[in-house]
Amino acid sequence: MKYFIETYGCQMNVHDSERMAGLLEQSGYDPATSDREADLVVVNTCSVRERAEEKLYTRLGEIREMARETGRDPIVAVAGCVAQQEGEALLTRSPGIIDLIVGTQRVKMLPMLVAGQRDDRRSPVIDVTTPYDEPSFPLGITRRADSAKAYVTIIEGCNDFCTFCVVPYTRGHERMRPKAEILREVADAAAGGRKEVQLLGQIVNHYQAPDDPTCDFPALLEAVHEIRGIERIRFASPHPRHTSDRLIAAVRDLPKVCKHLHLPVQSGSSRMLALMRRRYTRETYLDTLQKIREAIPNVQLSTDMIIGFPGETPADFEETLTLTEAARYHSMFSFKYSERPNTLAAKRLPDDVPEEEKTRRIVAVQQLQRRIQWSLHEQSVGCTVEVLVDHTSRRRAWELSGRTGGNTVVNFPGDPNLVGRIVPVTIRRAGPNSVWGEMPDGAPPGAGMSPGVAARGAATREVRP
Ligand code: SF4
Repeated sequence: MKYFIETYGCQMNVHDSERMAGLLEQSGYDPATSDREADLVVVNTCSVRERAEEKLYTRLGEIREMARETGRDPIVAVAGCVAQQEGEALLTRSPGIIDLIVGTQRVKMLPMLVAGQRDDRRSPVIDVTTPYDEPSFPLGITRRADSAKAYVTIIEGCNDFCTFCVVPYTRGHERMRPKAEILREVADAAAGGRKEVQLLGQIVNHYQAPDDPTCDFPALLEAVHEIRGIERIRFASPHPRHTSDRLIAAVRDLPKVCKHLHLPVQSGSSRMLALMRRRYTRETYLDTLQKIREAIPNVQLSTDMIIGFPGETPADFEETLTLTEAARYHSMFSFKYSERPNTLAAKRLPDDVPEEEKTRRIVAVQQLQRRIQWSLHEQSVGCTVEVLVDHTSRRRAWELSGRTGGNTVVNFPGDPNLVGRIVPVTIRRAGPNSVWGEMPDGAPPGAGMSPGVAARGAATREVRP
C-alpha cells in the first residue's frame, strides 16, 4: 500500500505532514511518487486565506478525475485547517470523493482511521474532535522531508485572536511543548544529519517552558544552541510585541542563530492595526525594527502584509507603502484580505474595499517591495556567503539552490552531493527574488563545509497558499 500527501500552507502544516508520513510508514505504508500510484491520498489543507481553501475543492475534483482515468480508487483523506473548520460540510461541498476528514488535533489517529476505511468504505469517517492536549510527539515518528533542515514545533495554537485570523479556531488555544522534549527532538534531528533547525509556533517568541520556569524563548535558543551538529537555528514566527531586548541580544550573540527575523506587520497604519487587534502601533513596530538594526547591522528582515482589510482607506494604504519603504524588507508575503469563517472581522467588519481596489493596492505594494529587494540583492554582488544547500533545480540537475543565514535564496552550479551541506558561494548576479553565484576557487569540489544526508523525500508535495 502506498500513500501520497499534498500539503498546503505554513511550515506547521508541512511539519504535520511529516508526522503523518512517519505514522503511515510505521503502519506499513510506502511513499508513492505521485497521487496516481497511491492507495491513500491525503490533502493537508490551509484555511488562512480563501484562495488556499478554494484550491482544496479544485484538487478534490482533479483527484476524482484521476481516479476515473486510471481506474484506481484511492482512499482520499482531508486533513488540516479546512478539515477542522468545515468538518462534515466538506462532504456536501465535494460529494462522493472524500473518505476521511481528520482535524488538526487528530493527526496521530490517521493510521487507525485509514485502517477502518480500508475495512469498510461504505460511509465517510469524520474526526475533528479537539482534545487540545499538550503538544507531545514521540521521537522517531516524523519522516522529515528535507535532508538539510528540521522543523520542530515548540508551541501549538494561539490566544491572541487577531480579528482576521482563523488559527485560534483551527488550532486551539496556546499550548507549550516541554523544553526537555524539544531538546531531545533537536538532538535527534542533528543525529540524522540536519544542519538547520526551525523552531515553530504561532507566536514562537511567547514560549515559556512548562517544565522549567526559568526557560523563556531566549533561554530556549541558548539551550538549542548547545546541541552539537546543529549549525543554524531559525524560528517562525515571532510577534512584534514579544520581540524583547533579550531576544534581540540572543539573536545578536548566538552565532548559530540566523540573522534573519520574520516580523509580520500586516499594515502600516496604526488605525488598521487597532482594528486587526495586533496590539502594537506603526511607531512601536518601527522602533522595534530600529533597535534590531542597531543591535544587528547585518540582519535581514521579512514580513507579512494584508491589503484591503475592512475600512482601509487610500490614506491607510499610503501608510503601508511608507512603512514598506522605511523597513526595507528582504522579502514580504502580501495578500488581499478575504473573510475567514468565525473570525471577529468576519462577524463585525464588513469587507468593504472593492476587489479591483485591493488588486490595485497589492500590485503597488508588490512593485515597491520588488524594487527594494532587488536593490538589496544587488548590494550583495561580490560578497561570499555561506549557503545551506537544500535542493537541486527542477529544471537543471547541475544547478543547486540554498539559503544564506539571512534567508536569501542563492542559485549556483555544483555537485548534487552538496545537498545538505553548508558551502561558500560568491554572488555574481542579483535578481528580484534570488541571487546567482559560484563556489570560489579552492572550495573543495563535491565537498562542502559539512556532511550531507539523503535527498528530499518524494511522497509529499508542498503548495504555498
Ligand atoms: S498572533 Fe494573530 S495572526 Fe498570529 S496566529 Fe495568533 S491570532 Fe493569528
